[in-house]
Amino acid sequence: MIDVCLITGDGIGPEIAEVTKNCIDATGAKINWVMAEAGVDVMAREGTPLPDRTVEAMRRFKVGLKAPITTPVGTGFRSINVHLRQLLDLYVCLRPCKSYKGVRSKYSDIDLVLVRENTEDLYAGIEFERNKSETTELINWLNAHSKKQITPNSGISIKPISPEGTARIVRFAFEYARKMGRRKVTSVHKANIMKYTDGLWLEVSRQVAKEYTDIEFEDRIVDNMCMQLVQKPELYDVIVLPNLYGDILSDLCAGLVGGLGVAPGANIGEKGAIFEATHGSAPKYAGQNKVNPVALILSGVLMLRYLGLVAEAEKLEKAVSSVIAEGKDVTYDLKDDRNDPTAVGTTEMGQAIIRKMKR
Ligand code: NAD
Repeated sequence: MIDVCLITGDGIGPEIAEVTKNCIDATGAKINWVMAEAGVDVMAREGTPLPDRTVEAMRRFKVGLKAPITTPVGTGFRSINVHLRQLLDLYVCLRPCKSYKGVRSKYSDIDLVLVRENTEDLYAGIEFERNKSETTELINWLNAHSKKQITPNSGISIKPISPEGTARIVRFAFEYARKMGRRKVTSVHKANIMKYTDGLWLEVSRQVAKEYTDIEFEDRIVDNMCMQLVQKPELYDVIVLPNLYGDILSDLCAGLVGGLGVAPGANIGEKGAIFEATHGSAPKYAGQNKVNPVALILSGVLMLRYLGLVAEAEKLEKAVSSVIAEGKDVTYDLKDDRNDPTAVGTTEMGQAIIRKMKR
């Protein structure tokens, strides 16, 4: 048996977590689910959205499947998701974006994998509020050491990019490409403007690329990349990006394949991994057995592959793909008309996927 923490989350989280767990069990994978709580529901009872026992379970078992969690507003808690990623140094955010027949989209045949750096860049959380004494001190120092001048009452966010942080994410992208039989890695940047951060990213990307002569390498400036992805997505394969561009382009690519309902994700590090859908906790649908469980189920497919359970992963992905393609036992968002009365609930869609695997 392989131990996996199932973090059930809040909002729509518990419903899609239950369905996903049942689908994974139906593949025959021998998973010992260690149940763990996080989010606003447990916070209401225990005063913290991330109990120590959940942190301990993740530290101990190292692999987690996580349903979405609401980020509590105005409570002093930064995102629990960010906290969990930092806890295990999950420096990779992996987002495959693949077309499934039957999902409404302007494109068909998309098969892209985004590899987003998860720890550095403007997301490092190093920020200075305007008019604070330390901010004024920093601005005075910068103005004394730079030819360019910053307006004294500005707010400042810092963008750190290190050679080590860049090398490990670019290396991950190449290793992934090699393992999954992919042909090309594209590194995205704005090195023409930010020479010492994105310029460094590009320089290190090129160095690492030299170690992988079997995989094609190219780079693209981020604005051009956005246009190219909309016009000619078929030209791209594995795309590696710093944190902020990765965040934005992940949503762009989710849009290419039909949106959040089918966008899985994984956060991976040397010490462990957490698999989760791209979408959030959609609180307005909580408890209604209404939403689409596919993004979390496909995150489960990524988890099975990560655990080396490739046949089980393929079995589950095939079943999901065939239920979507038939278009009968699917949730409202996968119907042509969102008010279609034949749409089924979250549980029923899960049952249809399980039936496919039993045939
Ligand atoms: P959201 O993704 O929760 O929902 C936006 C809309 O997308 C929903 O109203 C719904 O119409 C649709 N949607 C989302 N998931 C769906 C599904 N499975 N099936 C069908 N339709 C679906 O985004 P939001 O409203 O901006 O965020 C709600 C909360 O979730 C916030 O607190 C946010 O911080 C949190 N969040 C958590 C995660 C995470 O846990 N990884 C990720 C993103 C947002």
